Amino acid sequence: MEECLVFDGVTFSYKENRRQGVKILDQLSFTIHKSEFVSVVGPSGSGKSTLFRLISGLENQDKGRILVNGEAVEDRLGHIGYMAQKDGLLPWMTVMENVRLPLSLKGVKGKNVYKELLDKLDRFGLKGYEQRYPHELSGGMRQRVSFLRALLGGFDLLLLDEPFSALDAVTKSMMQEWLLKQWNETKKTILFITHDVEEALFLSDRILLFGEHPVKHLQEIQVPLGRPRTISDLKDPQFTSLKEKLLLDLRNKVTI
Ligand code: ADP
Ligand code: MG
Repeated sequence: MEECLVFDGVTFSYKENRRQGVKILDQLSFTIHKSEFVSVVGPSGSGKSTLFRLISGLENQDKGRILVNGEAVEDRLGHIGYMAQKDGLLPWMTVMENVRLPLSLKGVKGKNVYKELLDKLDRFGLKGYEQRYPHELSGGMRQRVSFLRALLGGFDLLLLDEPFSALDAVTKSMMQEWLLKQWNETKKTILFITHDVEEALFLSDRILLFGEHPVKHLQEIQVPLGRPRTISDLKDPQFTSLKEKLLLDLRNKVTI
């Protein structure tokens, strides 16, 4: 399998007033393959978002290498689609202006682009909303706009940081099925942060558990469920027993 993302002995600490701060990652290594759906699960404060900040180049590692598609690129933000926990839409821009942003930044414009975007918005269930502003949309709609914007960057690797955590249960489960459909159609590589064990199991091929401080290695769980998956799979005994095991694993990593 082709590699999409490689962490090779990565160490990172936040620096406080130029002094060495708390170490978050300590010589961490792992690999994500092309077209995989991998979830990162762990207690809050364990460094999950920091991992994404490193992948996207918003922070730089102290030691080790981070490779995207085999290259240690400096400006990684230009090579991945990043969807932060809050949808990150610009409130003063319409839906159309928000989704067009990655294309405008690349200098892509023209009538055809507009038509293509209208078509995409339609397929994302956002027909008729292109001139609306983010505050006029529901939570699920805003997440879809944000996801479409991340997709339009045209990158293979998408980083999604707890994208559905603020949604109500019904919208959340619909968005999960919707996301799996998009993933199936686009064959993107998805790295998905969540603290919701059920969500991680339902969506992923593999789960990486974040635990100890600093993080030295990730416990890996293969999800032995077939695809496509639907909401009724959540009642499958294999699914529920895996969920219990994972919750116990996670409880062992948390100190309260
Ligand atoms: P998670 O996403 O798993 O909840 P984070 O990656 O956001 O965790 O944070 C990991 C640790 O790093 C936390 O202890 C947090 O307080 C600390 N941290 C996060 N961002 C910064 C920052 N910009 N400066 C210093 N410390 C930070
Ligand atoms: Mg976080």
